[in-house]
Amino acid sequence: MAKKKATKKKVAKKSTKKVTKKKPAKKATKKKVAKKATKKKVAKKATKKKVAKKATKKKAAKKATKKKVAKKATKKKVAKKAKKVVKKAKKAASKVAKKAVKKVSTAQGIDKKALFNSILELIKNTSTVIPDDVQKVILEGLAREEKNTTAEYAMNIIKNNIDIAKKKIQPLCQDTGTIIFYVDVPKGFVQSDFTKICHKAVVKATEMGYLRQNSVDSLTGENKGMNIGPGHPSIHFHEHNKKTIEMKLMLKGGGCENVGAQYAMPYNALGAGRDLEGVRKVILDAVQKAQGKGCGPGVLGVCIGGDRGAGYTHSKEQLFRKLDDTNEVEALAELEKDIVETANKLGIGPMGFGGKTTLLGCKIGTLNRLPASYYVSISYMCWAYRRQGVALKGDGSINKWLY
Ligand code: SF4
Repeated sequence: MAKKKATKKKVAKKSTKKVTKKKPAKKATKKKVAKKATKKKVAKKATKKKVAKKATKKKAAKKATKKKVAKKATKKKVAKKAKKVVKKAKKAASKVAKKAVKKVSTAQGIDKKALFNSILELIKNTSTVIPDDVQKVILEGLAREEKNTTAEYAMNIIKNNIDIAKKKIQPLCQDTGTIIFYVDVPKGFVQSDFTKICHKAVVKATEMGYLRQNSVDSLTGENKGMNIGPGHPSIHFHEHNKKTIEMKLMLKGGGCENVGAQYAMPYNALGAGRDLEGVRKVILDAVQKAQGKGCGPGVLGVCIGGDRGAGYTHSKEQLFRKLDDTNEVEALAELEKDIVETANKLGIGPMGFGGKTTLLGCKIGTLNRLPASYYVSISYMCWAYRRQGVALKGDGSINKWLY
């Protein structure tokens, strides 16, 4: 019995032990489970965090991308705007440039070809056609001469010469003269450009036979056959207030240039003083000395005053006046008329053959002078009175003829 009890106790103990032993094991298990759960939770949390982080990163990345895209877009927009601004600026600049060109075109942006053609046409016409006002006085001279006289014969030859030259478009005389241009130009006009084109036109006119190969080196006598050289052609530019160009051309014969004269007054040989009576004396003296040389009947251009150079230049400028005009200065108008009438009574006549037509006209201008000097400068133009002029359009083509 005692043994049984003891055994029971042992068993009880064991079971107790077992029980007691089992409890901590459960706890441990629980702990482990808990730990695991915690770990899982932590892991979950960590995962969540990671995910969240990733999401945040993605968001951030997205934002950044958006920002970048936005930036790019902004840049593009800015670039576009900038392009537009540049385009606008370019347009504005080109408008300004166009305006500038237009402005220049009124002054100098002329069509070069058109200008060349205009100058060539001016040369051709001047060389081959006598202006109407000159032809009129030539015909009056012919009508004035007595029939069957040498004077009438000479005047008839002149008339026929004029007709043939016009019909055949050939120079009026074998001497096509010194080429003298007077060009009125707007402000800002580039003279050197005009000069180049003018030279080309002169060369062309020479090649085409409207001008004789007429310009030689003064020392060697060499003729390059182009009519171009120092002082030839002679081009005088004057600025005027118009926007267009006016060109006048004179072909001044050598024979008549030879009988031009200049008097320093008083001119004691004639008893000519420094007054209009003295001027009259020296002008008629020049006509007497010419005696028909210089291919009369001619026209006188006279300048009272100036220095020697300006005096001769201004006397030639008088030859651009129309023969039927009237001098604005009454005393000079009277003197001009008197000189022609008196000269035609001298009996010199056409070519000096005798007759009633020694002068076709006389035009007198004045320049200021120094008290110490008083010049009377006389330029003589032969019957082949070649002068013409044109007013040009803005592009350089001919608008109208001046004579
Ligand atoms: S002066 Fe006159 S007309 Fe006489 S040859 Fe000379 S250009 Fe001819």
